[in-house]
Formats: sequence, structure tokens, C-alpha cells
Amino acid sequence: MRVIVSECLRGTACRYDGGAKPNSAVEELCSKVDVVGVCPETASQLPVPRPPAEQRNGRVMLKDGTDVTEDFERGARISFAKAKSSRAPLAVLKAKSPSCGVGVIYDGTYSGSLTEGDGVFARLLEEEGICVVTEDTVESCKPSVEHPVAIVLGSGLGHLAQ
Ligand code: SF4
Repeated sequence: MRVIVSECLRGTACRYDGGAKPNSAVEELCSKVDVVGVCPETASQLPVPRPPAEQRNGRVMLKDGTDVTEDFERGARISFAKAKSSRAPLAVLKAKSPSCGVGVIYDGTYSGSLTEGDGVFARLLEEEGICVVTEDTVESCKPSVEHPVAIVLGSGLGHLAQ
């Protein structure tokens, strides 16, 4: 099985602060599947480290006020092309990120507050019909007759290796 994974979740130091966010459940998953690693923000040539960015009023803004919407959209398109060509049916992305967040993202106040919304990259995957979850939801995906991948996830991560 092929799975799209946010690079920072499998230990790549590509985050805005120069660090990674390795996650044990995701790393276990990565050891059992064919991983398609993506980082939309570095794909757009944004540097590491870089100021934090959040979505606000439909734009993506660095904390210093710089509008980086076009950079984020370019990186999302590059990563989406890689993801689509892989034909992976599932993506496990970093929660809350302005690029990778799913359903909930930081609200644009740089205060840690959250709001409803999707990351710029996550939205493209969802529009393509790819099942998109985060490290917070990957193990709580409920079986669903509508989505075969969710049925697999509902049986637990270990099931993916079979
Ligand atoms: Fe991680 Fe996605 Fe941000 Fe890259 S763009 S650092 S993969 S959350």
C-alpha cells in the first residue's frame, strides 16, 4: 500500500522552526507501507528555518506580515502533482498546519488558537478524493462503507501491512 506522508511526521527537519515532529504511530505506519514523502512548504523553496505562517482571511501570512499565499499555493501544487502521480489512496498529514492541516488549522492570530479549515495542500488532496487524515486522527478513523481506505484504517494501523 502506498501512503502520502508529511515529511516532518517521519522525522525530516523541514518545519518552520528548523525541527521535525516525529510521531511514533506514523513512523510505524511508514515502516509497513510505501511512503510518498511530501513537504509543500520546502517544495516551494521556502527556507528552513522560516517565520511561522498561518491562514487569515483566505491568505497565508508570515508572522512578520509577509503575504506568502503564492508560495504556499505553488508548493501545494508541486506536492499535489507528486502525490497524484503516485496514485496513493491515503494521506497522513501534520495536524493544524497552514499547508497540511485537516479540518482544523491555526486561526491567523499566532496565539495557538484554532479554527475550522484545511491546509492549502490538504485541500487539493481532498478535492481529488484522496482520504486525508492527520497524526491525531489516523488511528480513530472509523470504518465507512463510503471509503474503502477508512475501512482498512478502522481495523488498525497494523492491518495496513497485510
Ligand atoms: Fe510538515 Fe507540511 Fe509544514 Fe512541511 S508543510 S513542515 S510537511 S506540516
